[in-house]
Amino acid sequence: MLLPTPNPDELFVSVLTRLGRLNGFGDFREIAAQSFEAGISSSFIDATLNLPKFCKHLGDAYGAPEVLLNDLTCLGARRFLGEIDEEAWRALICGDASTSVGALTFLGATELRFCHACRKYDIGQYGVAYWHRRHQIPVLHHCATHGCRLKKVAIKRASIHESFPLPGDILPGQEIDLPSLWTDRFEHELEVFAQFLLTPMRPHHAQVEQVLRDELRERRLMNRTGVLRTNELLEHLISRTRSENSEEARSVAAQILRGLREPARGLAFGRAALLNSLLGDWRTVLERCNWLQAIGPSVAHVFPDGAKQDVPDVTVTHRKKCLAYISSDSAHSRLGFTKNEYRSFRWLLHHDKAWLDDLLPTVGRGCEQIEMF
Ligand SMILES: [Zn+2]
Repeated sequence: MLLPTPNPDELFVSVLTRLGRLNGFGDFREIAAQSFEAGISSSFIDATLNLPKFCKHLGDAYGAPEVLLNDLTCLGARRFLGEIDEEAWRALICGDASTSVGALTFLGATELRFCHACRKYDIGQYGVAYWHRRHQIPVLHHCATHGCRLKKVAIKRASIHESFPLPGDILPGQEIDLPSLWTDRFEHELEVFAQFLLTPMRPHHAQVEQVLRDELRERRLMNRTGVLRTNELLEHLISRTRSENSEEARSVAAQILRGLREPARGLAFGRAALLNSLLGDWRTVLERCNWLQAIGPSVAHVFPDGAKQDVPDVTVTHRKKCLAYISSDSAHSRLGFTKNEYRSFRWLLHHDKAWLDDLLPTVGRGCEQIEMF
């Protein structure tokens, strides 16, 4: 059997789908029968999967069970956040508990997300569009590389018992734009933090739970006996959203809070949002969780190379946003642009500073000025 090499940040189900296509399997239940030793199953994604047996069968081509979970799924990051308990984790990697491709893929509803710009880039770079792990993090609604809103696709269970789609198979009518939930600033902080969460360079996971508890106590959001001040905490999270009256924002915040008491019923990666909102920015989160020691003082190297993908196209998009803002506001200023189009401002500041400075110069001393980075 030919085994495809996982692409950067690729999801397990995506690698398996490419394996199925590469080897000409018309019915992916045969992959389950051969590699999961699951016997004849009625569904590919629900077939019983025993990780140690699977890894052994493939000669550890995708690593031992723990490596596979850390590299090809979001479970390692969720374990680090305390959303998956140690016993369940150990049972999975020892083979005492079985799982399924579906359980390793979906973080809630049977849907997957992708970014149009990433899809285009991946086809050019790797010859195939694939599902990325970092696009599946439920609290994030934008692509960290391109800044555009992610598209959500409902994966119809009925059609995936025998096969599975890749982003290249998704037609325009089948995708839905995810709403912009958080403020730009907060989402950016979350994006960076989430990327760190998906790297293997994580300190001990108990640390994050301790920091979360300490922060909640220090802010008097939790008392000594562990009782939470739910309403205050809810308002605290909602203040990070774009619209405080949005039903969706309230429901997401409530689901995040539920995860504090019952991790399995909370929103996956909800604790990342909570930690970030309590500590204010990702750098402080990393510092408090003793993470900077683990990854070293220079953190630039842990970011995927993707940051420079499609640079010319993205430059044009952000320049256009800037020019549109300037022509729409006769009293335009750098500060006004920051407030109106923060994402474009941030991008231009990092990648096209000379052009930005030329059009919207930094104001002199004594004036209102924002330079966040
Ligand atoms: Zn993207």
